[in-house]
Amino acid sequence: MTTGKFRERIRVSIADEALQAALDGNAERRTQGRINAFASLPDHEARRQRAHAIRTDVIDHLDDYLRHFIIKVEDNGIIVHRAEDANAAIKIFLEIAAEHNARLVAKSKSMVSEEINLNHALQAAGLQAVETDLGEYIVQLRGERPSHIITPAVHLRRHEVGALFQEKLGIPYTEDIPILTNTARKVLREVFLTADIGMSGVNFGVAESGTLCIVTNEGNGRMVTTVPNVHIALMGMERLLPNLYDLALFLSLLPRSATSQKLSVYTSLIHSPRRQGDKDGPGERHLILLDNGRSRLRGSSLREALLCIRCGACLNACPVFREIGGHAYVGVDGAPAPYPGPIGSVLSPGLFSIREYGQLAQASSLCGACRAVCPVDIDLPGLLLRVRAGAPEFDENQEAVAVPIALRSGLRLFKGMAARPHLFGFMQRMAGAGSRLLPARDNWLHLPSFSGWGFSKDLPRPAVRPFRNRWKRLEHESPQDLPKTEYTPAMDAIIPAEGFDLTARFIQELKALGGEGHICRTVEIPALISSLLNARGIEKVMVDAHSAQVLAGSGLEMVLAPDPSCLAGVTRATAGVADTGSLLVIGGQGEMLSASLLGEVHIAILSCGDLHASLAEVLDTERVRQAPAAVVISGPSRTADIEMTLTIGVHGPGELIVLLVDDSAPGMIK
Ligand code: SF4
Repeated sequence: MTTGKFRERIRVSIADEALQAALDGNAERRTQGRINAFASLPDHEARRQRAHAIRTDVIDHLDDYLRHFIIKVEDNGIIVHRAEDANAAIKIFLEIAAEHNARLVAKSKSMVSEEINLNHALQAAGLQAVETDLGEYIVQLRGERPSHIITPAVHLRRHEVGALFQEKLGIPYTEDIPILTNTARKVLREVFLTADIGMSGVNFGVAESGTLCIVTNEGNGRMVTTVPNVHIALMGMERLLPNLYDLALFLSLLPRSATSQKLSVYTSLIHSPRRQGDKDGPGERHLILLDNGRSRLRGSSLREALLCIRCGACLNACPVFREIGGHAYVGVDGAPAPYPGPIGSVLSPGLFSIREYGQLAQASSLCGACRAVCPVDIDLPGLLLRVRAGAPEFDENQEAVAVPIALRSGLRLFKGMAARPHLFGFMQRMAGAGSRLLPARDNWLHLPSFSGWGFSKDLPRPAVRPFRNRWKRLEHESPQDLPKTEYTPAMDAIIPAEGFDLTARFIQELKALGGEGHICRTVEIPALISSLLNARGIEKVMVDAHSAQVLAGSGLEMVLAPDPSCLAGVTRATAGVADTGSLLVIGGQGEMLSASLLGEVHIAILSCGDLHASLAEVLDTERVRQAPAAVVISGPSRTADIEMTLTIGVHGPGELIVLLVDDSAPGMIK
């Protein structure tokens, strides 16, 4: 049963017209975007089933995977800490901060940090923690929590952000989204460059290689893991995958479900701190592995919730979330639930308290839309029902919830009827026929004492021909067993059809992302880059070791170290993915990730011979395993955090130009 505080928040949300408009806009675009994104993945149902099987295996053998993962991460030079609960995680964080005399923490988006209320704890300890994801920054300025796990400011309209920036950042009022985004970029740039600690979440930890995988679109995730001298990653201990090959599978599902993209703009793959001779990267990296109720959840009937990869699709699909938004999800005492929506209605009671948050599971129509969109096929309706039933084995130490006598008698009566199908059917038909005698408007009964039933609608008139009668008929007409797709490992590789041209496909995909691709010969590169930079009035350019050799004698002023004053960077791309128009850029050993991050323009040099058909071929390689850090780049930096309006160029470069080198090509320069 829902409590007063929860009902109150629901009523407020439903009456808030601006919120309703914002939620409608989000739901429509996300739903359509998701459908379009999955259209390019014809075997997505098979991938989904495989993703479910992989995550189930990880949760079943979590101790083994964790042991392996920790050994690899430590071998790679990252300091691992285990935190049993929120207090332990905060204590570890503060100890690291104290060791480094830290004052300023640049944070990238992390739901785990919301879960442990990290910002509040850092502030109480005298540290300044600044959120750097645009949506998170907006809600932090408003003193709010995120209302969605992927789009934190989904509840706001542009005029509210305009008024906020006018008040807090002192700019003239504007509703122009690029101006608002650019303002945040300038303010947060200073934060990245002066922060003592960069803090991030982790989307996936890879057990076989000890990889920390972090996906972002704006580039703030790359900034906080590259620029400050100390990086602290906070990770829920269940977020593991067996190997890099499986990571490629999950990366084909997560961005499509979360933001309707084939791949997020930046997929960072982190292995170690800066090594001797490296040009950039933090000198120290820490990983805090958080339990905070996960072990207990794993031993409960709600364990399937641990399969979640936090894509947010179930929130967008849920008819209840679409009406009430994330801030309405509160506990019995009015405390905000750490996770909203269908998965939040399982995770919040499962991780924290079923007594406090169990009521959230009532806010579901059990329509199954959440399960239908879940990329790992979590049985969310089943889990919600278990929460409603109190998941007794899970919360054994809590007293039984007192059920009012009228409700108890009513439920007993219902149980007696529901256990006798003939009696149940008869009563349904009686109710349907009897309701014809009562006053009704359209198909809703008009009974003053039931008016306002369910907050936003009245008591529906029972059907004369109940659903179970119609279902019985359907049963005879429908096939009983839908075929189940079998998984075969070969499905992860995109088999190029005859005549599949990797270069043409790469350029086509890159253009669709907002990037530029040019085919050229090696000898043409210096002149081409010079003309591209001259056209933009740029004279000084950051370069990695390989590009410095290629550009020798070009007359450009080249900087071989991270330099935020450079407006452009030139790097080598180690590999390209034709199917997604993505580049793999590796750090360490003379290469420099900052060159693809700090400027406004990134020019990448990629040999056509290094193009591959699929992401799995590029990720599952020794080059990636050996790199201190690497990044897969898919287009220019972007955000859609204000009213889902796409804005190019946030914290990373707003322009991405790829020179595809093919010395057998006729060449560009005549
Ligand atoms: S439950 Fe499924 S749909 Fe919902 S956030 Fe988790 S992975 Fe995404």
